[in-house]
Amino acid sequence: MMKTLYKNIFWATLTLIIVAVSFSLLFNTATPPTQMSLSDLAMKINAGDVTAISVQGNDLSITLKGGDQAVAKKESELGLTQSLVNFGVAAKALTAVNVTVNDNSGFQFWMGILVPIILQLLVLGLIFWFFFRQARTGANQAFNFGKANIRMFHSFKERVTFKDVAGLKEAKQELEEVVDFLKHPKKFLDMGARIPRGVLLMGSPGTGKTLLARAVAGEAGVPFFHISASEFVEMFVGVGASRTRDAFMTAKKAAPSILFIDEIDAIGRERGAGVGGGHDEREQTLNQILVEMDGFDRDSNVIVLAATNRPDILDKALLRPGRFDRRVVLDLPDIKDREAILAIHGKGKPLGSDVDLKKVAVRTPGFSGADLANLMNESSILAARNGRTSIAQNDLYDSIEKVLLGPERKNRVITETERKKTAFHEAGHALVATSLKDADPVHKVSIISRGRAGGYTLKLPLEEQHLRTRNQFLTDIAVAMGGYVAEKTVFGDVSTGASSDLKTATQLARALVTQYGMSDDLGPQTFGDSQELVFLGKEISTERNYSEAVAAKIDEEVKKLIDRGHEAAQKIITTRKKVLDAIASTLMEKETLEQDEFNALVGKFHLKPLAI
Ligand code: ADP
Ligand code: MG
Ligand code: ZN
Repeated sequence: MMKTLYKNIFWATLTLIIVAVSFSLLFNTATPPTQMSLSDLAMKINAGDVTAISVQGNDLSITLKGGDQAVAKKESELGLTQSLVNFGVAAKALTAVNVTVNDNSGFQFWMGILVPIILQLLVLGLIFWFFFRQARTGANQAFNFGKANIRMFHSFKERVTFKDVAGLKEAKQELEEVVDFLKHPKKFLDMGARIPRGVLLMGSPGTGKTLLARAVAGEAGVPFFHISASEFVEMFVGVGASRTRDAFMTAKKAAPSILFIDEIDAIGRERGAGVGGGHDEREQTLNQILVEMDGFDRDSNVIVLAATNRPDILDKALLRPGRFDRRVVLDLPDIKDREAILAIHGKGKPLGSDVDLKKVAVRTPGFSGADLANLMNESSILAARNGRTSIAQNDLYDSIEKVLLGPERKNRVITETERKKTAFHEAGHALVATSLKDADPVHKVSIISRGRAGGYTLKLPLEEQHLRTRNQFLTDIAVAMGGYVAEKTVFGDVSTGASSDLKTATQLARALVTQYGMSDDLGPQTFGDSQELVFLGKEISTERNYSEAVAAKIDEEVKKLIDRGHEAAQKIITTRKKVLDAIASTLMEKETLEQDEFNALVGKFHLKPLAI
C-alpha cells in the first residue's frame, strides 16, 4: 500500500515537471529577437535597411538587410502602412519592403489560446487517471475476494501415490474404490451405481490426511484442487459462498478431478452452534457447499475429499447420504507403521550402518506421521551440524526428544511405567468386555495414546442398534470399570487415566435411572428436564424437577449400579488374572491388537461367557 502511494507521488511529480518544461519551451522562445520601436523601424525603412515585414495582428516580424530578425508592435487601430506613414516613412521607401499580412484568425492564434487550456486539462486528466487507477486496483482486489485461492497439483514431479503413504491400510482400501470410480466411471455407472460425492478423512493432526488425499489424485491421475476451509471465510459476508462456487466450478471444468477441502471443521461446525454472535458467514459457506454437492449431476466426475480432526463437531447435514457419506478414519500409526513411515522418510537420506528403524519405532509411541517425518528431518540436521556424512542411530534417538519436547508434544512423553499402566488398564477393559455375555465384541485394543486418553479399547456392536437393554447398559458400566479395577488390582493404586472411564460409568448409571426408567426402586419414570443447548458445539443442561428426597434416592440408585459394575469387573479380573497378564504383555509388545489377534489370544484360555 505504502509502496503504491510513493509510486504515484513520483509519477505525479514527474508529469508536473514535464508539463512545466513544455510550457516554457512553447512560450518562452529561447533567444527572443531584438525589439524595435516603430520610429526605429521607420528610420530603417527610410534608410533602405529593411527587406521584409510580416504582419500578424499587431506583431511585426522584420527581416533586416543583413538577414537579422527583429520584432516590433504597431498601433492596433491603424494599418501598418498608415502607421509607418505617420512616422514619416516615404511611400517610395516602403515599396522596397516586402510586406506580407498573415490572417490574424489563423491556426497560430487559436493555438495560442487553446494550448494552455488543453495542457491544463491534460494535467487534470492525468491526476484523475492516477486516482482512478488506484481506486480500480482496490476494486479489483475486492472482486478477487470472491475467487477461491485454489491450488492445483498435478505436475508429475510432485505426484504422490499410495506407495508414499505408509500404513493406513484400511483407509487406503476404502480410497482404492474412489480411485477406481475416477478411473473407470463407466463401469460403475453402467451398473446403476451412484458415484460417491464426498469422502471425509478423519484423523488427528499429522496422520496423513492431506497426503492421502493427494495420493488418491496421484493414483487416479486426475487434477487435484486443494483449498483450506478457513480460506473460505473472510471479513466480508458472501465471500465464502462465492469462493465455494468458484472452487466447485474450477473442479467441474477439470473433471474428472478431486476437490480437497482441508480442515473442513472450520466451516462445517454444527449450524446454529454459537448463540449470540453466531457466524452467519460460516453457515452460508457451509450451505453453499451442500448446495454445490447436491447440484452434481449423477455422472459428474468430481469427488470431494474433506479432512478434519474434529468429526464430532461437524454438522449432520454434511454427513448425509449424497454428501460426505463415506468416512475414512486415519489412526495414529502403530509400531509397524511407524517403522514404515520412518523408512519412507529415510529414503534418499544417508543412513549409517548402525541405524535400526525398528528400535526407533519402539521408542516413538504416539507419534503421528508428521512427527516421524519431522524426526527424520531433525536427525539429518543433527548429523550435518556435527559434520558427519551419514545419520547415526543416536541422531535418531536424540531427535525423538527434540520432537517430543517441541511445544505441543510435552504432555505426550510416555515413560515405561506409564506404558505398563496403560497396557494393564486397556487389558482390563478388554478382558471384562470379552468375559461378559452382553458386551459388544472388542474390535481393537491399543496403548497408543489418542487425544487425552492413554490408550483405547474399541468395542463395536455386532449390528447397528437403536435400542439397548438394561443388561447391556450394566455390562457397559462393568466394562468401563474394567480399566480402573485392573490398575488397582495390579498396581495397588489408580491413576488419573481412569477418570474418564469413571465419568462414563457415572453418566451411564445416571441416565439409566433418570432417563430410561431402568432402576428397580424408582421405577419407570424420568427425572429432570434436559434441554439441548447449542452453544460452543453442544451442551446439555438439565433442570431439576424433583424433590431433594428423590435426588438422594437417585444418587443412591446410581451408586448401586456402579457398585454392581465394579463388583462384576472385580470378579472377572481376579479370577482371570492370567488372561489379563497375557493381554497386557502382548499389548506392551505390539501396542495394538486387532480383533483377530485379540480373539486368537483370549481364545487360548477358553473363557466361558458370564452373565452380569
Ligand atoms: P494431516 O493433513 O493429517 O494433518 P499431513 O497429510 O499433512 O497430515 O501429513 C504431514 C506429513 O507427515 C506428510 O507430508 C508426510 O510427510 C508425513 N506423513 C504423515 N502420515 C504419513 C504416512 N502414513 N506415511 C508417510 N508419511 C506420512
Ligand atoms: Mg492436513
Ligand atoms: Zn479406560
